[in-house]
Amino acid sequence: MRNTIWFLKGLRNGKKTELFPEADPLEPPLWPSMLEGKGEVECPTKALENGKWNAGKCIACRRCIPQYMPTGNQKTYSLSKFAPSLLSRSFYLYPVDSGTCGACNTELLSILSPQYDASRLNIFLTNTPRHADALVIMGVYTEGMDDVVSKAYEAMPDPKLIITLGACAISGGVIGKAPVLSDKATVEIAGCPPSPYTILEAIVKAKGGGK
Ligand code: SF4
Ligand code: SF4
Repeated sequence: MRNTIWFLKGLRNGKKTELFPEADPLEPPLWPSMLEGKGEVECPTKALENGKWNAGKCIACRRCIPQYMPTGNQKTYSLSKFAPSLLSRSFYLYPVDSGTCGACNTELLSILSPQYDASRLNIFLTNTPRHADALVIMGVYTEGMDDVVSKAYEAMPDPKLIITLGACAISGGVIGKAPVLSDKATVEIAGCPPSPYTILEAIVKAKGGGK
């Protein structure tokens, strides 16, 4: 009986999944998004230097307000090269927490929620690096993780990508030490934490052609 009620509620509510990235985000968050502004400010991570904003270093502390304001633009990611077409179908992510505050993990998991439904784009999580197309590193890196991350990367079949997700993984954030494999990162998804929109769009682009 309970299942029937949920089923009928589902029919009444209709489809809630967003069309993003094919359509604009429904309610894009202002933080984090690209910052724009002018002038020198004291930035704790040196994300602002000589009037230039570095997304990979920004921890969204908002100390630079009002000189620098968020634009709402979610494209705070960069791709050093596009993936081969072999990755354009099912795409499996193997997440590694190298010392997060918990927020980057939460936002990554959000892309699997009904609102974003990454599975409609053939994006999934896996709990083994042997089935993974991309290693997703999140959090401030500690030396104790070197071995773990290197072994996980070696165990992945080719072709494979490394995604650094969040300011901590890209630049070390407030601590300042980037991951051991950051020089091999194909995709950098900046933000503290990045929004699900940013994560989803970056992964779709990284895996290449089509869904
Ligand atoms: S919001 Fe980002 S750019 Fe602005 S001061 Fe904080 S870390 Fe620096
Ligand atoms: S980048 Fe920000 S949200 Fe992500 S783990 Fe670091 S402090 Fe937390």
